[in-house]
Formats: sequence, structure tokens, C-alpha cells
Amino acid sequence: MSEQVRQDIPIGQEKVGQWHSLDYSYQPSDLVDVPLKYRGEDCKDRDMKLRKGVLKAFISMVESAERDGVIIRCISAFRPASYQDILYKRAVEKEGPNQKSTAKPGHSEHQLGTVVDVSSPEIDFGLKDSFADTHSYRWILANAHHYSFYISYTKENHHEKGYIWEPWHLRYWGNHVPD
Ligand SMILES: [Zn+2]
Repeated sequence: MSEQVRQDIPIGQEKVGQWHSLDYSYQPSDLVDVPLKYRGEDCKDRDMKLRKGVLKAFISMVESAERDGVIIRCISAFRPASYQDILYKRAVEKEGPNQKSTAKPGHSEHQLGTVVDVSSPEIDFGLKDSFADTHSYRWILANAHHYSFYISYTKENHHEKGYIWEPWHLRYWGNHVPD
């Protein structure tokens, strides 16, 4: 098979979710490493990448939060479909085939390189519902949209989107606004 020329999907126009999949091999070409200082405590050794423009916006947001005395850190970022496959199988094994916490490979927004799972020292950098009780979360609710980050799976929309409520999962939309 000849090598395909793949194009990066323009930010904000990507269609992916429970009912839309990306090519298994889709990987943006402009992924860059998230600097260590913006990562959660136990994430320093992990492979952690975002698309270039997304990282820039993320850093602006984190620095601005910090000026308000609020700490936001990246816990998970880009995931290739091959890694999502491992997470998906693990989740099915643990929670059964109807689990809604982990997307199938090709169906995760994390494959876009525009998504960050964030947390704060207030909950020891965990990805759990109690993130919604933190100052970091309240800051995100009030300010993240100024940096084009939006919570993908809210209490209001998560049933419709087919996943669980994830207060920690932020997607960058660039010049677009999610519907
Ligand atoms: Zn996530």
C-alpha cells in the first residue's frame, strides 16, 4: 500500500464522537510536547502532546489562571487510536460492553490533539467528578471560553453525546463555538 498523504483536519471542524469516527491512523502533523511545568505531578514521564496552536492557547489559559491563584494542569492530551484501543479494552473488561467512560478507538476526541484532560492539586491531580468542586473548575467555567476551550461532556449534554459527564475534559475550538 502506498503511503497516504494525510491532511490535518482544520480545528473546530473535526467530527468525532460516539457516532463519528476518525481514520484509525489519523494523527495531526503539528503535535508538540506539553512542557513539564504544565503537567500534573505523576505525568512528567508520559508522552504528552497537543497541536501547536492548542498548546499555545492552553499555556495562555493556565498562566492566566495562575495569576488568579488557580492551578490547572494537563493530565492527558493527544492519544493515537492504537492507545485508545488499549484503554477501551481495559474499560470494557472492567465495566462491561456498555460502558460510556471510554471511547472506542477512532471515536475519541483525544485523537484530535485538541483535547486536554485537566486537574488540580486540590484533588491530587485526579480525573474524577469531584473536580467539579474545585476552584480550578469554577475558574474554567468562568474563563476557559476566552481561550476557546469548552467542556465537551457536560451534565446537560452527555446523554445525547453518549458518554459520561467529564468536567475535566476540555476541547479547543479555535475560532469556532461548539453547538
Ligand atoms: Zn478526556
